[in-house]
Amino acid sequence: MPLPRRTEADLRREFTGLVVESLAVRQDVDRGTVRCGACARAGDDADLGVGDIVVVVLRNYEGFTWEIQDVSCTEHRVERVADAVGIEAEDQAVVSAVLEAAGYHSPDGSYHPEALTLGDVGVLDYSPAEDGYAEPSDRD
Ligand SMILES: [Zn+2]
Repeated sequence: MPLPRRTEADLRREFTGLVVESLAVRQDVDRGTVRCGACARAGDDADLGVGDIVVVVLRNYEGFTWEIQDVSCTEHRVERVADAVGIEAEDQAVVSAVLEAAGYHSPDGSYHPEALTLGDVGVLDYSPAEDGYAEPSDRD
């Protein structure tokens, strides 16, 4: 049974305050910085921090857990799911956001007050799970 489509308001609510941390993307929780993946691959180690606009690619697992797959500076932004990671049978989204430092309570019990979170979220693209079944030709 397909999962219900999320609305843009759903997405904004789910991503606002989300900590910029995942298996794919690690921030420096003490300095409150994160790097654009494309910049890092190009050898540019410029840090992104509070107040910077970023573009974030996210993928939903099992219908409720969002995982950040990539964080980009505005120069390296990719605005469509299909271009960023390809369409899959999971909810996926690309959003713009402003980095904030709302802090992070990590699973080990420590608190990082400077940790980056997402604010002022704007949805650039959304691919519901059903698209991954409906358009297998789009997968690559
Ligand atoms: Zn970049």
